[in-house]
Amino acid sequence: MSDEEENWNYKALIEHSSDAIVVHDIEGKILYANPAALALVGDKSLEEAMKKSAFARLPKNMAEIGHRDSQKLLDGQSLPPLIAPLFLTNGNRIEVEVNANFVNFRGKPAIQVHIRDITHRRQVDEILRERLETERALLNSPIDMAALLDVNGIILNINDNFAKTLGQSPQSLLGSCIWNLMPAEVTDYRRKYFDRAIQSKQTVRYDEKNGDKWYDSLVNPILSDQGRVIQLAITARDNTERIQIEENLKESEEELQNLIKSSRDGIIITDEKGRITKWNKGAEIITGLTANEVLGVTAWEIQAGNVTKEWGGHNSLSRYRTLWDQLLNDSNDQHFTGLFDGQIRTPGGDIKYIEQSVFRIPSQRGFRIGAIIRDITDRKMEEQQLKEFADNLKRSNEDLELFVTIATHDLQEPLRGIVAYSQLLLNYCKHGKSPQMEKYLKVIENSGLQMSQLVNDLRMYSRVRTRGDQFIPVDIQKVLSNALNNLQLAIKETQVVITHDELPIVHADATQVTQVFQNIIDNAIKFCGEGIVPEIHISANPEDGMWQFAIRDNGIGIPEEYYNKIFILFERLHGRDTYPGTGLGLALCKRIIERHGGRIWVESEIGKGSTFYFTLPKA
Ligand code: ADP
Repeated sequence: MSDEEENWNYKALIEHSSDAIVVHDIEGKILYANPAALALVGDKSLEEAMKKSAFARLPKNMAEIGHRDSQKLLDGQSLPPLIAPLFLTNGNRIEVEVNANFVNFRGKPAIQVHIRDITHRRQVDEILRERLETERALLNSPIDMAALLDVNGIILNINDNFAKTLGQSPQSLLGSCIWNLMPAEVTDYRRKYFDRAIQSKQTVRYDEKNGDKWYDSLVNPILSDQGRVIQLAITARDNTERIQIEENLKESEEELQNLIKSSRDGIIITDEKGRITKWNKGAEIITGLTANEVLGVTAWEIQAGNVTKEWGGHNSLSRYRTLWDQLLNDSNDQHFTGLFDGQIRTPGGDIKYIEQSVFRIPSQRGFRIGAIIRDITDRKMEEQQLKEFADNLKRSNEDLELFVTIATHDLQEPLRGIVAYSQLLLNYCKHGKSPQMEKYLKVIENSGLQMSQLVNDLRMYSRVRTRGDQFIPVDIQKVLSNALNNLQLAIKETQVVITHDELPIVHADATQVTQVFQNIIDNAIKFCGEGIVPEIHISANPEDGMWQFAIRDNGIGIPEEYYNKIFILFERLHGRDTYPGTGLGLALCKRIIERHGGRIWVESEIGKGSTFYFTLPKA
């Protein structure tokens, strides 16, 4: 083939090539452009194309590269393909791959450039890259470990966490087989779940312990349009905390169950309709009914004894039903607790006293009712025994009081005889001049008088409750005048100074209250130190519905250990020779004050005096 012929063939090849081919000189001046090139850049004719430098179609920085590369080619170097943007005649920009070679064109050195539009390919690449990154971002979302595998275990994508456990970067793991990267002991069972997901085409889920952590693992097959498994998404979520919470919950649930089981109290739970769902051992022991007999039955039916033999049947049943109605229907008061005391009869015929508290247990799905039953039979029995004991005591006290009243009445008569006859004999003896006999008779007379006083006081004491007057408004001012009147002999003898504040009106038995004032003032005069003029002051202060009276003296005082004792019958701190008396005065006062619902007590300082306090109801 001649050179010309060869040239012609080459030209024809270039002219018809689907690749755009441009020849330019070192400056970028276009010497030739084939039709494909003209079509690519949008020039109508070669002449039009030749008006522009080849480098003018490149961005500025790329134009410089083009220029430099052209020189390199002319120097005999060869260059790798270049990816570059290219501006079209209409101003649009495309992405091209450029292959440039050195050629001799019409006897001159030139650059021949093959241009391929790769805009579309770049777009596809871009989409793929973006997809991979999106996938990875998804895989990196809260799931702890995630990977996308093909059916052979080749890693198509993997998230950072998972890659970290395999000791590599996500990028470097792409294309590796996952089964070669894990220890054999985990590969075996993980592969089993993996294969199962492929075969069943269903998600396989399993819990896995790795080190001290628990993972919730999922193998999720991804199917093709034809229903073939093409990929598998693997995820593992760190579940340690949840499993721990579940275990703790299970533990506390077990504790609660044990508590319910071993409780001696009956613990019952019902649903929203009052039907029993839980009936513990304690409830069985108390009621004599087993869980089997009562589960599903409403609490009030059991109480009524409709379903199981005889239980309950007492007249407070309607009250019990009302309580349940309130619990089941009144949703306003979520914390309502009803208390119920009652008597039950067990199937064995035992009568038991129970105390029941019934309450709502709000739950996410509405509410339930809880009831706690306590067997209070023993307590009730004790209460009953105590009541019987108190009744008996009251009765025997009444008997005793009756006895004392009769005895003191009947004793008075013979005593009077003894005193009267000893006095007669005394008179008689005086005339007979027998000093010895006179002395003996004096002793008999004194003893008789003393006994008469004692019997009298006792009689008064026993009559406080039985023979008292009705309570009426009583002016204490008047009471005090009467008491002082009764004491006028002692008052005159001792020159006692008695002062008082304004005195109120009380609701009381006037005679008895006079007795109280009289006894305390009498003592204040009596228990006065040698050579001291007694001084007494009476005051009154209001104190919740009562008046509190204080009678203060300047007497010998009372040791603290006797503050309570002196109010006991016959208790005295001194011999009869030093201070006469029966030891009954303060006991009588206490009994009177208590009959009025009041209190009496003393405060004292030895050698300085005592203050007696007592309270009486306001009028
Ligand atoms: P008595 O008949 O002895 O007065 P009371 O019951 O009135 O009996 O008093 C009991 C005892 O309390 C008295 O014996 C006395 O020792 C003591 N006592 C009562 N009042 C006073 C007082 N104002 N000062 C000192 N001691 C008192």
